[in-house]
Amino acid sequence: MGIAKAAGESGCVLLEKDRLFNVLLAHELFHAVEEQHADEIYTRTEKVELWRKPFSNRSSIACLSEMAAMAFAGELLGLDCSPYMLDVLLVYAYDKEAAWGLYEEIGELIC
Ligand SMILES: [Zn+2]
Repeated sequence: MGIAKAAGESGCVLLEKDRLFNVLLAHELFHAVEEQHADEIYTRTEKVELWRKPFSNRSSIACLSEMAAMAFAGELLGLDCSPYMLDVLLVYAYDKEAAWGLYEEIGELIC
């Protein structure tokens, strides 16, 4: 199933061609700005300690960047629905089972 078919079947405005393009463009715009400010932006400077001493390793949190990029897209475009829905909807277009699994996993986290 292609994105256009998924858009038609779901009725989700996020999957409309122009809107989807703008959301993804805004998302990538955030990453471009993030890259220019990598040494000062929270999504890059926040670290978690993966192991305790003496083998300490501080790692960045990759999902922060993706969450911020989608939040930025939502604010920039004034979306009235969450662009995080695309995480499930875009997967649904090529793997329904994986999309449902992701949907259920998200549901468990927010309930
Ligand atoms: Zn991204």
